Amino acid sequence: MPTKYAYLTIDDAPSADMRRKIDVLGKWGIKAIWFVRGELLEDNLADIIYAIRQGHIIGNHSYDHPKFSKISLKDCKNQVYSTDQLIEKAYFLSGRPQLVKLFRFPFLDKGAGNDYENLRWDDPHVLALQQFLGRMGYQQPIFEDINYTWWQRAGLDECLDIDCTFDTYDWAPLEKDPPHGYSGLRELLARMDEDEPESGKGLNYPASNDIILMHDFEETADLFEPMVNHLLEKGISFKLPI
Ligand SMILES: [Zn+2]
Repeated sequence: MPTKYAYLTIDDAPSADMRRKIDVLGKWGIKAIWFVRGELLEDNLADIIYAIRQGHIIGNHSYDHPKFSKISLKDCKNQVYSTDQLIEKAYFLSGRPQLVKLFRFPFLDKGAGNDYENLRWDDPHVLALQQFLGRMGYQQPIFEDINYTWWQRAGLDECLDIDCTFDTYDWAPLEKDPPHGYSGLRELLARMDEDEPESGKGLNYPASNDIILMHDFEETADLFEPMVNHLLEKGISFKLPI
């Protein structure tokens, strides 16, 4: 059986726990893509520089995490641009080249909400945002062998922002009423073992690699290492798209 690979993406960094997470990943030689918020980056540049020097990729996740369908195009552009500048500064200070520019929308909202079934790439706001990302040098790198039909049907392999094929729901325990009962570690680990590849639960599905979404929230710091360990126990290997 071919090795199943995953690209690990970690959103809403940097938190005070980021450096510990980097060291957890370092034990296994895992490199991740960290989608950072500009507002958090300004006071934590040292942790970002540490991540870059450890071989991780820093991606843009807006300045302060609004829903891009709810704000003007001008405000969207400012969100991307201001964080772009901060990331560029972090790479400059790290002494390492920025090899690729990656963007993830807050809430995976590409400008028309996050409902993939109804996502229209010709929606003027969505289209303008994609064009702006292109002009800013953002790209969809080559994520090898992402073979889910729902992924391709939604156009998620061709857009200039980065989506995910597996949401770990590590954010769910923070909700007052956790969706689908994902209230803690036990439930989240069990979710990783489910077999519904065409519903975003394909970690057991050998014919596709995955882009996994986790978060750098301090409140759920305890979930991080056991979740990564479970992915490793499942035989998943990790790589970067460059
Ligand atoms: Zn986020």
